Amino acid sequence: MDINILIETAKKARENSYSPYSNYKVGCALLTKSGKIFSGCNIENDGIMSICAERVAFTKAISEGEKDFECILVVGGKDELQYTSPCGYCRQFMSEFCDKNFEVYMYYDNDKIDKKTLQDLLPDSFSL
Ligand code: ZN
Repeated sequence: MDINILIETAKKARENSYSPYSNYKVGCALLTKSGKIFSGCNIENDGIMSICAERVAFTKAISEGEKDFECILVVGGKDELQYTSPCGYCRQFMSEFCDKNFEVYMYYDNDKIDKKTLQDLLPDSFSL
């Protein structure tokens, strides 16, 4: 997979962000092991029911029968792209569906990219 495809998909999804409260627009691209890409953007709400781009992408994919995930790439920021990593809620959510080696890419400043694993981001996740 060409990482540039994920970058462009995430940036395009970010354009659909509904974020009138924070004005912090986030987009992401989730790659399945079968090679499909699901995009997501953050969708805010005047209350506590906002949903992050990452969980939008995961719920889209899972609702269409996908269960195996390779990586996710996240872009975000108010105007220019800033370093944006998944929030704690999304990290825990991902841990339900991904193993510790699941790769999380943060693309920022229009030419920088950081790669972490879910293990890096959530080393001691909750599980029953
Ligand atoms: Zn989140």
